[in-house]
Amino acid sequence: MSIVELERVEKHYQSVHALQGLDLVIQPGEILGLFGHNGAGKTTTIKLILGLIEATKGTVRVFGEDPTLSEARNLRRKLGFLQENVSFYDQLTGLEVLNYFAKLKGVSKKQSRELLHQVGLDHAIKRRVKTYSKGMRQRLGLAQALLGDPKLLLLDEPTVGLDPIATQDFYQRLNQLKERGCTIILCSHVLPGVEKYIDRGLIMGHGHILAEGNLDDLRAKANLPLTLRISGDVELPENLQGRIKQRNGEIHMEVGLEEKMQVMKTVMSLPGLENIDLHLPTLEDLYTYFTGSMQLEAEK
Ligand code: ATP
Repeated sequence: MSIVELERVEKHYQSVHALQGLDLVIQPGEILGLFGHNGAGKTTTIKLILGLIEATKGTVRVFGEDPTLSEARNLRRKLGFLQENVSFYDQLTGLEVLNYFAKLKGVSKKQSRELLHQVGLDHAIKRRVKTYSKGMRQRLGLAQALLGDPKLLLLDEPTVGLDPIATQDFYQRLNQLKERGCTIILCSHVLPGVEKYIDRGLIMGHGHILAEGNLDDLRAKANLPLTLRISGDVELPENLQGRIKQRNGEIHMEVGLEEKMQVMKTVMSLPGLENIDLHLPTLEDLYTYFTGSMQLEAEK
């Protein structure tokens, strides 16, 4: 059974059409990256899955149930949610905050200390939240989302405020959760670093899906050139001269995906070649491409 199924979902807020016919199926154990410009509809999608709002049209099913129904109480126990710009009662300590949420969720308080340990807040569990840095609050938010061993985790901008090492730790932790069968939806504007941890990316624009798939699928759809960086005292054959974009000690040239192997073979055989680096389009390049295509369509 799929974990999440959205079929032809529309969400209107008066005249604003936040989602316009969204179809989305998420399989167990999948890590889905949800990307899009401000106002694209990411948070609206998350709120629909959490059952916080109702769809104007279409159907939403989470673990096979309608998440807005009051009978879906058990379903909510399976969900973990970290909202954007998380805030807590500042006068409580980290441990008190987590114990409070554990009670709300019907989970044993024993988990609180263990989770605070896992997010690296051991040293601050008895300190009031008002003394926490931004990154510490974010870690506390993550611990809160992990209470009750959720089967579906929804994370809105989870790495905001985390330092680079904490960000890496965070993504590794997602992988561990995935291995334990947890399904994860991750919204982020911070694209570098996320690509190797997601199974599938969904790029949204104005309530539509602009593109979806794993990184290879997105690269094939966008068909953006890749960049070869060549160093050494080499003379490129005439048919490749026109591809040179930059020459500053190194040669940078753009090559289409379909001709990659052929060009590589030619370059590898050149006398004087010292090194060759291959740069594939990043998630950021793909995001820029697909959102840029949407703007071009709109201007037509
Ligand atoms: P961001 O990256 O800025 O968080 P987002 O992709 O999460 O954006 P949403 O919050 O889903 O975007 O908003 C989608 C659209 O719906 C926007 O045009 C927003 O103004 C509108 N919207 C969201 N909530 C409401 C609301 N309660 N009332 C009216 N309009 C709303």
